[in-house]
Parts: sequence; C-alpha cells; structure tokens
Amino acid sequence: MTTIYLKSHKEESLKRFHPWVFSGAISKVVLDAKHQGDAPVEGELVTVRSAANEVLGVGHWQVGSIAVRILAFGVETLPEGFWSERIRAAYHVRESLGLIANSQEPTANNTFRLIHGEGDFLPGLIVDVYADTAVVQAHSVGMHVCRKEIAEALVKEVPQVENVYYKSDDTLPFKAPVEGEKTGWLIAKSQEPTADEYWSFENGLQFRIDWLRGQKTGFFVDQRENRALVERYAANKDVLNMFCYTGGFSLYALRGGAKTVDSVDVSQKAIDLVNINVARNFPDAKNHQAVAADAFEYLTAQKNAGKTYDLIILDPPAFAKHRDAVKNALRGYQRINAKAIEMIRPGGILFTFSCSQAVDKEAFRLAVFSAAASVGRKVRILHQLHQPQDHPINIYHPEGEYLKGLVLYVE
Ligand code: SAH
Repeated sequence: MTTIYLKSHKEESLKRFHPWVFSGAISKVVLDAKHQGDAPVEGELVTVRSAANEVLGVGHWQVGSIAVRILAFGVETLPEGFWSERIRAAYHVRESLGLIANSQEPTANNTFRLIHGEGDFLPGLIVDVYADTAVVQAHSVGMHVCRKEIAEALVKEVPQVENVYYKSDDTLPFKAPVEGEKTGWLIAKSQEPTADEYWSFENGLQFRIDWLRGQKTGFFVDQRENRALVERYAANKDVLNMFCYTGGFSLYALRGGAKTVDSVDVSQKAIDLVNINVARNFPDAKNHQAVAADAFEYLTAQKNAGKTYDLIILDPPAFAKHRDAVKNALRGYQRINAKAIEMIRPGGILFTFSCSQAVDKEAFRLAVFSAAASVGRKVRILHQLHQPQDHPINIYHPEGEYLKGLVLYVE
C-alpha cells in the first residue's frame, strides 16, 4: 500500500485519535508498486507512518487540505469485516439508547442517524435510516469507492434495513474525478420503495420522506429531541415555525395542544410536504396553516400587521458555510432573532438555532444577546440545546459539533 510519512511531531494529534492528516503535515509519499502516476489516487487507502516509522493508521487519501481521513488507528490495513464491525457498533449505540422501535412499539421511532461521520469513527460517511431504507451520503471519494461494501454491511447488520439509497451528488468534493453513479439504489428488495409515498415514524409522528427531491437525506433527523421540547411548551399557544421544512416542529406543537400553528418556509415543495404531513397525522386540524414566504419578508409583514406569537421557532439553514462567512452570518442571526423577539408576546418563548459548524456556541449566543438588547426586551435562557445522541461528537474531534440552540423566555 502507499505510505504517507509525517513530519516529526506531526503524529501527536493522530495519537490522540484526531482522524485528519493535513497536507502540511506530510513529509513524503511513497507510492506502492502498482502506481503509474506520481501521486496517490484520490479515494485510495493509504498507510500513515510517523517520521520515526511507527504505524499510525490507515485512511482514505483525498486531494485538499485534509489529505487523509483515518478509518482505523494503529494498523496498516483495514481489518477483515471492518465495515460490518463499525456499522454494528453504531447500531448498538442507538439501540442501547432506546432510539429504535421494536416489535412491541413499531410506530414509536424508526427514524435515526446511524452513522455520523467522525462521530462514529467513519470520517466522510453519513447514513440516515428511515423505516426499512437507509440513505447514504459520501463526503469523501474514499467513501464513494467503498459504497457497495457499505451498503452490503448495512443490510447485513441493521435489522430494519432492506434498501440502501445513495445520494452523494451534492456532498462529494466538487472537482473530484469520481467513477460510477453518485446517486441511485445500491440495494433494493424486489420492489424499490418510491420517494413519492414513503413514510417513517419519529416519536410516533409520521413523516413523508422524499430522499429524491428533499434536502440532505430527505429529513432533518437532528432536531428530534428539540422538537419534543417544543411539544412540552406548546399547549394553548399561538406558534410560528419559521424555516419549517417538512414541518417537524409543527407536528410536535400540534400534538402538544397548540392553539394555532403557522409554518413558514421559502420552498413551496417544503410547504406541500408540511401540508401532507399535517393531513396524515391530524386529519381534522383546522388550526394549522402553511405559507411559502421568505423569513425576513414574512416577519416584517406580520409585524406591520400587528401580529404576535406566544412561541416562535427559528431554525434557519447554515448562514455560514465557511469560516470566512462567519461575520456576515452573525449579522444574519442577529437580524432574524431581533425580528422574532419583537413579535413574541410578554411571557412568550423563542426556540432559536444555528446549524453553522463555523459559528461556535459563544458567538451564536452573543448574536442572540445583541438581538435581544437591540429590541430592548428582558430575555432569560431556559435551555441550551444541541445535536442529539445519534449525532455524537467524537471528543477528539470537536469540529463535529455543529447544532446549537437557545430556548429563551421573553418578558
Ligand atoms: N426546521 C426544519 C429544518 C430547517 S432547514 C426541520 O425541523 O425539519 C432550513 C429551511 O430553511 C429549509 O427548508 C429552507 O428551504 C428554508 N429557507 C432557506 N432560506 C429561507 C428564507 N430566506 N426564508 C424562509 N425559509 C428559508
């Protein structure tokens, strides 16, 4: 196998199980005999060694500032049965935490993230499970190369999974030379499920999952626990679910006894799905409306019309996709939160989130603080929220932390 040698002292982070090798840490690359070119092929497995020739691990080679993503530490090659072993371990964590429906309670919860990249020691791989279908996203060429082995291990190791759909058009590195399809079924039982009529349960609520046309893998699995908290506070409240996507928070608010729920998203496709989901779970609901509108425009228009709410949820898309966009993102968070806080009745509640990995907890809190101060309302923090237990953060890889939220009491 090709071997990557690190500069001296650059092995330390790997010895602490941080899974990335940056290109600047590499002193030399020794290609194995079968190579014709002068560099490793993107996506191939390479062995990483220290300057003193110790074996540090094996991982996927990638062109870019992160040159290797380590899959297994302390070994030269991937052990036999590697994918099965990792997937089994990830499944066991979710099962032991009580996340997965069993035959006694089949409608409880069969929607969960099975593999959360570095958080499940598989950098570059995301797998979400919806009922009997797993949706796989590769973020590295290495994972793309291994997609068939991964799909086979998923069907073998995860009792509920019978179909594996691959959706990596938007997640593989843009310029990478990738062979084979980036999207499509990897494994399907005789009749492929269709994304037009596919349902999955989250905590007893049914959601239509459209992995073909939907965002990410079709659903935002990461808000499950925070949605349950909205349910707890929703009784008799007028609720606004801003950036609602398929209406996750709206369904929990309805089940929690909200007086009214308004769901707003700029995407008409999302709004159509919200209406389908509400009709499926609450066929008689007359207290829900879904509106396709831009958040800033909607809040401004509603405020001018004198509208107020008891509970607002703000779950915007990542405002900062890169470090250099952080300043603008913080301004965006401040503006949208100020607009929402202004519209909350005295004694009301705001759930506000940021899923930008580049914006840390402190910076986000400061943006919300500035928003509260700018509109002159007395605000207290009731809860500090984060990503759920099926999106674990590898303690040696703090970059895996991305979702943060605050629940505010607004006087
Ligand atoms: N809260 C959702 C996930 C939100 S994802 C859930 O629980 O599933 C962010 C959503 O914001 C997307 O659906 C996207 O269509 C929407 N969005 C992006 N820009 C917007 C804008 N300017 N105004 C309103 N919605 C917007």
